[in-house]
Amino acid sequence: MDYYSSQISRLIEQLSALPGIGSKSAQRLAFHILHMPEEDVKKLAESMTEAKKNIHYCKECLTLTDEELCPICRNMQRDHRTIMVVEDTRDLAAYEKTGKYEGVYHVLHGAISPMLGIGPNDIRLKELIHRLEGDVEEVIIATNSSLEGETTAMYISKLIKPTGIRVTRIASGVPVGGDLEYIDEVTLLRALEGRVEL
Ligand code: ZN
Repeated sequence: MDYYSSQISRLIEQLSALPGIGSKSAQRLAFHILHMPEEDVKKLAESMTEAKKNIHYCKECLTLTDEELCPICRNMQRDHRTIMVVEDTRDLAAYEKTGKYEGVYHVLHGAISPMLGIGPNDIRLKELIHRLEGDVEEVIIATNSSLEGETTAMYISKLIKPTGIRVTRIASGVPVGGDLEYIDEVTLLRALEGRVEL
Protein backbone atom coordinates (compact mmCIF):
# COMPACT_ATOMS: atom_id res chain seq x y z
CA MET A 1 0.00 0.00 0.00
CA ASP A 2 2.87 2.41 -0.65
CA TYR A 3 0.66 4.66 -2.76
CA TYR A 4 -0.65 5.95 0.56
CA SER A 5 1.51 7.86 3.01
CA SER A 6 2.70 5.73 5.91
CA GLN A 7 0.22 7.16 8.42
CA ILE A 8 -2.75 6.45 6.20
CA SER A 9 -1.45 2.94 5.58
CA ARG A 10 -1.09 2.41 9.29
CA LEU A 11 -4.65 3.53 9.95
CA ILE A 12 -5.96 1.20 7.23
CA GLU A 13 -3.88 -1.64 8.62
CA GLN A 14 -5.22 -1.14 12.16
CA LEU A 15 -8.80 -0.98 10.97
CA SER A 16 -8.52 -4.06 8.80
CA ALA A 17 -7.34 -6.02 11.83
CA LEU A 18 -10.86 -5.63 13.27
CA PRO A 19 -13.29 -8.54 12.82
CA GLY A 20 -15.45 -8.34 9.73
CA ILE A 21 -13.48 -5.46 8.22
CA GLY A 22 -11.81 -6.35 4.95
CA SER A 23 -9.22 -4.14 3.30
CA LYS A 24 -11.85 -2.31 1.22
CA SER A 25 -13.97 -1.44 4.25
CA ALA A 26 -10.84 -0.47 6.13
CA GLN A 27 -9.92 2.00 3.39
CA ARG A 28 -13.44 3.40 3.34
CA LEU A 29 -13.42 3.84 7.12
CA ALA A 30 -9.94 5.37 7.10
CA PHE A 31 -10.93 8.03 4.59
CA HIS A 32 -14.17 8.65 6.40
CA ILE A 33 -12.21 9.26 9.61
CA LEU A 34 -9.81 11.59 7.80
CA HIS A 35 -12.76 13.65 6.60
CA MET A 36 -14.38 13.85 10.03
CA PRO A 37 -13.98 17.02 12.14
CA GLU A 38 -10.98 16.63 14.46
CA GLU A 39 -13.24 16.98 17.52
CA ASP A 40 -15.33 13.97 16.44
CA VAL A 41 -12.26 11.85 15.79
CA LYS A 42 -11.07 12.71 19.28
CA LYS A 43 -14.41 11.67 20.77
CA LEU A 44 -14.30 8.37 18.89
CA ALA A 45 -10.75 7.61 20.03
CA GLU A 46 -11.59 8.63 23.59
CA SER A 47 -14.68 6.45 23.79
CA MET A 48 -12.54 3.49 22.75
CA THR A 49 -9.73 4.09 25.24
CA GLU A 50 -12.14 5.00 28.06
CA ALA A 51 -14.25 1.88 27.49
CA LYS A 52 -11.14 -0.27 27.39
CA LYS A 53 -9.83 1.30 30.59
CA ASN A 54 -13.04 1.23 32.64
CA ILE A 55 -14.90 -1.83 31.52
CA HIS A 56 -14.29 -5.02 33.41
CA TYR A 57 -16.17 -8.14 34.53
CA CYS A 58 -19.10 -7.82 36.94
CA LYS A 59 -18.04 -9.24 40.31
CA GLU A 60 -21.08 -11.49 40.37
CA CYS A 61 -22.06 -12.62 36.85
CA LEU A 62 -18.89 -11.64 34.92
CA THR A 63 -20.67 -9.71 32.23
CA LEU A 64 -18.92 -6.57 30.99
CA THR A 65 -19.72 -3.48 33.03
CA ASP A 66 -18.13 -0.23 34.15
CA GLU A 67 -19.24 -0.68 37.74
CA GLU A 68 -18.46 -3.25 40.41
CA LEU A 69 -21.81 -4.95 39.89
CA CYS A 70 -23.75 -4.79 36.62
CA PRO A 71 -27.29 -3.28 36.63
CA ILE A 72 -28.87 -6.76 36.48
CA CYS A 73 -27.00 -8.09 39.52
CA ARG A 74 -27.72 -4.84 41.39
CA ASN A 75 -31.44 -5.13 40.70
CA MET A 76 -33.07 -6.63 43.77
CA GLN A 77 -36.39 -7.07 41.94
CA ARG A 78 -34.86 -9.80 39.85
CA ASP A 79 -34.89 -13.44 40.85
CA HIS A 80 -31.36 -14.07 42.06
CA ARG A 81 -32.08 -17.76 42.61
CA THR A 82 -32.38 -18.45 38.89
CA ILE A 83 -29.13 -18.23 36.95
CA MET A 84 -28.99 -18.40 33.17
CA VAL A 85 -25.61 -19.48 31.85
CA VAL A 86 -24.60 -17.87 28.55
CA GLU A 87 -21.42 -17.89 26.48
CA ASP A 88 -20.92 -14.15 26.22
CA THR A 89 -22.30 -10.71 27.01
CA ARG A 90 -24.01 -10.45 23.60
CA ASP A 91 -26.08 -13.55 24.39
CA LEU A 92 -27.10 -11.93 27.67
CA ALA A 93 -28.17 -8.85 25.73
CA ALA A 94 -30.25 -11.01 23.37
CA TYR A 95 -32.21 -12.47 26.30
CA GLU A 96 -32.57 -9.08 27.96
CA LYS A 97 -34.15 -7.75 24.78
CA THR A 98 -37.02 -10.20 25.18
CA GLY A 99 -37.86 -8.36 28.42
CA LYS A 100 -39.35 -11.54 29.82
CA TYR A 101 -36.51 -13.15 31.73
CA GLU A 102 -36.45 -12.16 35.38
CA GLY A 103 -33.54 -14.15 36.71
CA VAL A 104 -29.85 -13.29 36.66
CA TYR A 105 -27.02 -14.52 34.44
CA HIS A 106 -23.61 -16.07 34.44
CA VAL A 107 -21.31 -15.27 31.53
CA LEU A 108 -18.77 -17.98 30.69
CA HIS A 109 -16.77 -15.96 28.15
CA GLY A 110 -16.45 -18.89 25.79
CA ALA A 111 -17.35 -22.55 25.47
CA ILE A 112 -15.47 -25.79 25.90
CA SER A 113 -13.87 -26.87 22.64
CA PRO A 114 -11.56 -29.88 22.66
CA MET A 115 -10.80 -29.14 19.00
CA LEU A 116 -9.50 -25.65 19.78
CA GLY A 117 -7.88 -26.81 23.00
CA ILE A 118 -10.30 -24.82 25.18
CA GLY A 119 -10.96 -26.74 28.37
CA PRO A 120 -13.24 -26.17 31.39
CA ASN A 121 -10.54 -24.13 33.09
CA ASP A 122 -10.34 -21.70 30.18
CA ILE A 123 -13.89 -20.43 30.67
CA ARG A 124 -15.50 -18.90 33.77
CA LEU A 125 -16.86 -22.12 35.23
CA LYS A 126 -15.19 -22.04 38.61
CA GLU A 127 -16.96 -18.77 39.35
CA LEU A 128 -20.30 -20.39 38.50
CA ILE A 129 -19.70 -23.32 40.83
CA HIS A 130 -18.75 -20.86 43.53
CA ARG A 131 -22.04 -19.00 43.07
CA LEU A 132 -23.96 -22.24 43.56
CA GLU A 133 -22.86 -22.30 47.19
CA GLY A 134 -25.37 -19.50 47.68
CA ASP A 135 -29.15 -19.73 47.49
CA VAL A 136 -29.77 -21.05 43.97
CA GLU A 137 -32.87 -22.87 42.79
CA GLU A 138 -32.31 -23.35 39.06
CA VAL A 139 -29.50 -23.09 36.55
CA ILE A 140 -30.70 -22.60 32.96
CA ILE A 141 -28.01 -23.53 30.47
CA ALA A 142 -28.36 -21.28 27.43
CA THR A 143 -25.10 -21.94 25.64
CA ASN A 144 -25.31 -22.01 21.82
CA SER A 145 -26.53 -25.13 20.07
CA SER A 146 -23.15 -25.58 18.38
CA LEU A 147 -20.96 -28.59 19.18
CA GLU A 148 -19.03 -26.44 21.66
CA GLY A 149 -22.19 -25.12 23.27
CA GLU A 150 -23.61 -28.63 23.68
CA THR A 151 -20.34 -29.98 25.07
CA THR A 152 -20.31 -27.14 27.58
CA ALA A 153 -23.94 -27.74 28.56
CA MET A 154 -23.27 -31.45 29.17
CA TYR A 155 -20.19 -30.68 31.22
CA ILE A 156 -21.99 -28.12 33.39
CA SER A 157 -25.01 -30.33 33.99
CA LYS A 158 -22.77 -33.17 35.16
CA LEU A 159 -21.06 -30.78 37.56
CA ILE A 160 -24.28 -29.38 39.00
CA LYS A 161 -26.46 -32.50 39.15
CA PRO A 162 -24.89 -33.89 42.36
CA THR A 163 -25.67 -30.63 44.19
CA GLY A 164 -29.42 -31.23 43.79
CA ILE A 165 -29.94 -27.84 42.12
CA ARG A 166 -32.38 -27.97 39.20
CA VAL A 167 -30.53 -27.87 35.85
CA THR A 168 -32.36 -27.10 32.62
CA ARG A 169 -31.35 -26.56 29.01
CA ILE A 170 -33.12 -24.15 26.67
CA ALA A 171 -35.18 -25.96 24.04
CA SER A 172 -33.46 -26.85 20.82
CA GLY A 173 -35.88 -24.90 18.61
CA VAL A 174 -32.85 -22.71 18.19
CA PRO A 175 -31.15 -23.49 14.86
CA VAL A 176 -28.09 -25.68 15.22
CA GLY A 177 -24.85 -23.75 15.20
CA GLY A 178 -26.83 -20.52 15.43
CA ASP A 179 -25.38 -17.72 17.46
CA LEU A 180 -27.88 -16.71 20.13
CA GLU A 181 -27.52 -13.03 19.35
CA TYR A 182 -28.85 -13.47 15.81
CA ILE A 183 -31.97 -15.33 16.83
CA ASP A 184 -35.19 -13.35 17.06
CA GLU A 185 -36.85 -12.67 20.39
CA VAL A 186 -39.85 -14.91 19.82
CA THR A 187 -37.61 -17.91 19.14
CA LEU A 188 -35.52 -17.10 22.19
CA LEU A 189 -38.60 -16.90 24.41
CA ARG A 190 -39.93 -20.16 23.03
CA ALA A 191 -36.56 -21.77 23.72
CA LEU A 192 -36.63 -20.47 27.28
CA GLU A 193 -40.22 -21.49 28.01
CA GLY A 194 -39.68 -24.92 26.46
CA ARG A 195 -36.56 -25.63 28.47
CA VAL A 196 -36.04 -29.22 29.49
CA GLU A 197 -34.77 -30.84 32.64
CA LEU A 198 -31.22 -32.23 32.33
ZN1 ZN B 1 -23.62 -8.92 36.98
